Amino acid sequence: MNTVIPIQVANKESLATPGSTHHISQERGQREVFCGLTGIIWLHRKIQDAFFLVVGSRTCAHLVQSAAGVMIFAEPRFGTAIIDDRDLSGIADANEELDRVVNQLLKRRRDIKTLFLVGSCPSEVIKLDLSRAAQRLNAQFNPGVKVLNYSGSGIETTFTQGEDACLASLIDSFPVVAHRAGPDQDTAHKKLLIVGTLADVVEDQMQRIFKAMGIHGVEFFPGRNSQHVPEIDESTVYLLAQPFLADTAKRLDARGATRLPAPYPLGVQGTSAWFEAAALAMGVDDAVRDQALLAPRQRAQTATAKHRHLLQGKKIFFFPDSQLEIPLARFLSNELGMQLTEVGVPYIHRQHMAQELELLAPHTVIMEGQHVERQIDRCEAAHPDLVVCGLGLANPLEAKGYTTKWSIELVFTPIQGFDQAGDLAELFSRPLTRKHKIAA
Ligand code: SF4
Repeated sequence: MNTVIPIQVANKESLATPGSTHHISQERGQREVFCGLTGIIWLHRKIQDAFFLVVGSRTCAHLVQSAAGVMIFAEPRFGTAIIDDRDLSGIADANEELDRVVNQLLKRRRDIKTLFLVGSCPSEVIKLDLSRAAQRLNAQFNPGVKVLNYSGSGIETTFTQGEDACLASLIDSFPVVAHRAGPDQDTAHKKLLIVGTLADVVEDQMQRIFKAMGIHGVEFFPGRNSQHVPEIDESTVYLLAQPFLADTAKRLDARGATRLPAPYPLGVQGTSAWFEAAALAMGVDDAVRDQALLAPRQRAQTATAKHRHLLQGKKIFFFPDSQLEIPLARFLSNELGMQLTEVGVPYIHRQHMAQELELLAPHTVIMEGQHVERQIDRCEAAHPDLVVCGLGLANPLEAKGYTTKWSIELVFTPIQGFDQAGDLAELFSRPLTRKHKIAA
């Protein structure tokens, strides 16, 4: 389900980004974004001993089920405890109903080691306190099964914030490691943590490159096994693999970890700089680093170049949706020669996006927030060759003759790292090729 959320303030303001040539405007109005429940689709694939129980309506169930495309005879690692009329009217005690559903589930599914209770708009509307429910259920099931909660509601979030909320709740469940005095400056004792859900194949490729650079023991969070707890303390340095993890980063910082400033590992340029940030922090010799990056970088350049003739000079317009818009715009402009007409972003985390903004083509028009009607007007005036937007806007825009790319596909698909750079370029060239073939 798309959420269309009218926000009262309909203002528009502009501000210069310190230290950059970009002019970031802000606007508020109706938004067209998916809700945070969508994150369950890629989170359940990654964390293989976890179950995501949405506490929501039939609409929430339909959203998650259809987005995941799960066949009915599969044993998925997500489901919905449906809040029905009896819960809404107070005839049934929603907490008792939830306990009953969780007991049934955990009795039947012994493979579940972590259960996430995922809040939704309906559970928030009836003020069902899922943190208390998690505490109560933990008393019953933990150890054995850890019960956590987070909100995936569409009331305040854009869809990738579901992952942020999920990872933040996982960190909160980790035991606190005793603090030592001051940050650990000794590279020999530093531990590198990669933060953000990555497909297993991407994780394996990255791990090979880290090993080639002589960086061993790199941990990925979230991991495939929810019971594994990465040690997070002052000797931990972390690299964000996704640009939408503000709350997760705050939790890591609070435990003494240090974020390594870097762009995101999308395309050759972003991935190179991302690995270089790791190499610098971990004291890797420049020659060793360059040797480790050489072959994967060349493969990525070759794979990306195949799409350049199709994309060079084409105009692209981004509606705000996934939070990946700025790194993607940087890749498409710098490596494929696309013209950025407008880059819409739900919100900009100024620190986490600083290195991306430095690499972005000068004078790029960036719009933070959304007033969807105005943005559609600007999109039509710009006549882009390709529009990146959510599903709710894609069909009407296609009907008007625009070529679109669903932004959600960019989160479902493995796109990070050198070996995915060509696939990432193809995600943008394919809709143009298809249009060309249809027109021929
Ligand atoms: S959480 Fe809210 S926005 Fe998301 S599917 Fe449920 S009702 Fe719709």
